[in-house]
Amino acid sequence: MYKVGLTGGIGSGKSKVADMLAAWGAAVVDTDVIAHDLTAPGGAAIEPIRQAFGPDVIAANGALDRAVMRELAFQSPEVRRRLEAILHPMIRGETRARANVAQGSYVVFVVPLLVESGSWHTQLDRICVVDCDPETQIARVQARSGLTREAIERIMSAQASREERIAAAHDVVLNDGKTSLQELELSVRALHEYWCMQALL
Ligand code: ADP
Repeated sequence: MYKVGLTGGIGSGKSKVADMLAAWGAAVVDTDVIAHDLTAPGGAAIEPIRQAFGPDVIAANGALDRAVMRELAFQSPEVRRRLEAILHPMIRGETRARANVAQGSYVVFVVPLLVESGSWHTQLDRICVVDCDPETQIARVQARSGLTREAIERIMSAQASREERIAAAHDVVLNDGKTSLQELELSVRALHEYWCMQALL
C-alpha cells in the first residue's frame, strides 16, 4: 500500500487530520494510540515497565502513570533510554502488525517524532507535516490536557523545530491559530485526493 507518514508537534492537529483522512477511507495506524494501548491497564508494556522502574510508575488502575514516568524520564536520560528500549520495539512490532491488516485507499502512519527518529524516512512514500505556531500549540494542549505551560514547553523543546519538520516534509498542512477547521478540511481534502491518485499509480 502507498504509505504516508503524518507528523507535527504536540497540539499541531495530527489527530484531527488523521480523523478526517480515516473518514474519507484511508487506513490510519497511530503510533501514539499504540503507545497508549501498550501502557493501558493490562497492556503488554506494563509488566516490563514495572520491573524496570518499580511499582511507583504504575497507577492504581494498572495503567502507566504518565505524569510520574514523564518526570522521571525528564530528570534522567538513562531512564528515558531504558523506557524507550522497552517501548520502541513493541511499538514497531505492533505498528507493523496493524499496517499488515490495514484496509484503505492508502495507509497513514501518525508518528509524533517522525522527523526526530531517523529510521522512518526509508519506509514511507510521503511525509506530511501539520504545521502550527508554538503559541497555538500551547493553547490547544492546555485546553485539552490541563498540563502547565512549563510542562508543554518542556515537551516542545524535546521535539524538532517547526523549520526542521518543514525541511523534512513533502507536504505541509498549515493549521495555525488562524486556520478554521473548515479551512483545514479543505487543504487536507486536496492532499487526500492527491495521495489516492498516487496510490493507484
Ligand atoms: P495533536 O494530535 O497534533 O497533538 P490534536 O489533533 O489532538 O493535535 O489537536 C489538538 C487540539 O486542538 C484538539 O482538541 C483539536 O480538536 C484542536 N484543534 C486542532 N486543530 C484545530 C483548528 N484548526 N481549530 C480549532 N481547534 C483545533
